[in-house]
Amino acid sequence: MKTVGVLALQGSFREHLKLLGQIEGIHPIPVKNVQTLQQVDGIILPGGESTTQGKLLKDFSLLEPLKERILSGLPVWGTCAGTILLAKQIAGDEPPHLGVMDITIRRNAYGGQLDSFIDETIIPAVSAQKIPLVFIRAPWIDKTEDNVKVLASLNGKVIAAKQGQMLATSFHPELTYDLSFHQYFIDQIIK
Ligand code: GLN
Repeated sequence: MKTVGVLALQGSFREHLKLLGQIEGIHPIPVKNVQTLQQVDGIILPGGESTTQGKLLKDFSLLEPLKERILSGLPVWGTCAGTILLAKQIAGDEPPHLGVMDITIRRNAYGGQLDSFIDETIIPAVSAQKIPLVFIRAPWIDKTEDNVKVLASLNGKVIAAKQGQMLATSFHPELTYDLSFHQYFIDQIIK
């Protein structure tokens, strides 16, 4: 049995917990404090609002403990705002939050709420079937360092990447019925 945490301060954490609950051998738990953080074998950072999540991470004294666990090898997957939290650089002048992954992220890269959209693509590393892609005020990855593997691009923009045990997507698999990305995180990243 693997315990998979979902950072549960703001955003689409309930949706992640629900999908994880459908996967055999997985015990999903919401993470809101250091005690629960210590119990997890991997953690998902959900979509939402990265500025708010970054502030709440500090308010709940979770920013440094989470950063330390990721730097010591905790498998982590950021979806949308979660990816923004992971990035070492945010395009523009914004300071990073966790700042652990060698990517430059561009917030709201596709535009505002009205420019949210759904697409689908095959991501060979993850599944042979098309995966639905939900973008909500989504970022894209502007730049990846050499140690980062690009998993998927859409119209020339990087939307999924992996660096060691860190996984980043600019879209929201938790807002679909498709389990393949969660399964990939569990099978290939947490192991
Ligand atoms: N636009 C949000 C941000 O910058 C991310 C949106 C999302 O997670 N759907 O934090």
